[in-house]
Amino acid sequence: SPKPLQPQPHQLQRKRAGHGNRIPVVTDEEVPVTMVDKDHGVTYTKLQLLGEGGFARCYQVRDQDGNLYAAKIVAKASLEQQRHRIKLHGEIITHGSMKHQRIVQFFSCFEDDNNVYLIMELCENKTLIEMLKARRHLTEPETRYYLVQLLDACRYMHEKMVVHRDIKLSNIFLDHKMNIKLGDFGLSAMLETPEDRKRTVCGTPNYMAPEILFGNHRHNQKADIWALGVVLYTLLTGSHPFQMEDHNEIYRKIRANSKKPTYVFSEQGSTSSEAKDLVSKMLVNDPDERLSISDILQHPFIQHQELPTRIPHSALQGRPTLQ
Ligand code: ADP
Repeated sequence: SPKPLQPQPHQLQRKRAGHGNRIPVVTDEEVPVTMVDKDHGVTYTKLQLLGEGGFARCYQVRDQDGNLYAAKIVAKASLEQQRHRIKLHGEIITHGSMKHQRIVQFFSCFEDDNNVYLIMELCENKTLIEMLKARRHLTEPETRYYLVQLLDACRYMHEKMVVHRDIKLSNIFLDHKMNIKLGDFGLSAMLETPEDRKRTVCGTPNYMAPEILFGNHRHNQKADIWALGVVLYTLLTGSHPFQMEDHNEIYRKIRANSKKPTYVFSEQGSTSSEAKDLVSKMLVNDPDERLSISDILQHPFIQHQELPTRIPHSALQGRPTLQ
C-alpha cells in the first residue's frame, strides 16, 4: 500500500502556526450570568473563571440545587471553520462516551444563540502542572500513585477504542481527594477496530510520539504510552525529557532517541534505577517495542515499591508525609 505522506517538522510548525490565527475565544461579557439547558430543565449560574484555552473559557458554575460544575464555553463565532466544528464534535462524542472514576465526567452539553456549553465535573485542585510548579519534582511514591491512576484511565479508554492523543500535565486534573481525572478530549480519536490506526498529526510537541511526528508508523493506543513516559520522566525530574528552545530541535532529539536515549537523568538527581528503567521502556520510538499498560503494571517500579493509600492536600505545596 502507498506510504502515508510524511509530514516534515517544518510543515508541522507551519500548520501549528496556522492554528494560532486568533480564534475568537468567548469574552467574559459574552458568557451570560445564567445558562439554561432547556432539554434537562437546568439553570446554571456563572461563578469564577477557571481558565482559558485556545478554544474555550472554563467557568465554575452552580445549578439550581447548589451542585458545582465546570462549564467549558465555546463561542459559535469560533466554529465557522469546519475543522473547528469537527474538533468540538469529536470532543463531545468521545468525552461523552467515557464514564470512569479517573476521567473528568462529562455531564451534558447545550447551546444558545451565541455559545456551546459543555458541563463537566469540577476539578478543584487544578492540574499536575500547577502542582509540579510548586514542587521541584514529585517523590517516587507520589509518582507511582499517579501513574497507576493514569494507567487505569488509559486502560478504560483504550478498551473503548479511544486514544486520548493529548496526555500532558496540564490535562491531568486533581479532584477534591487529590486523585487524578484525565480531561480535555479535544484531540482524542475513536478507533474503529483494533487495527485501525489514525494518521492525523496532533498533540503537543513535547509529548508527541515519534510515530505521530514522523508518520513512519500508523499510530494507535501506544502513542498515549509514549506521552505517559514523558509525564513519568517530568514528574520524577521536574523537566521535559526532550526539552529544547526550538521545536525543530525537539523533533530532532525525539527522532535520534531511536538509536540511544537522547534524554538524560541528571547525575545529582535521586531517581531510582527502577524508575529510570521504566522510563527507558516507555520512551521507545518503535510503538511495537514500547511497553503495554499491563507490562507497565508488572514493572518493578510499580510492583516492588511502596504505593501510598492517598495523597494529602499538603502535597500541592511541598513534599508530603505519606502513609
Ligand atoms: P482548551 O481545550 O481550549 O485548551 P481547556 O479544556 O484546556 O480548553 O480548558 C481551559 C482551562 O480551564 C484550563 O486551563 C483548565 O485548567 C480549566 N479547566 C478545564 N476543565 C476543567 C475542569 N473540569 N475543572 C476545573 N478546571 C478546568
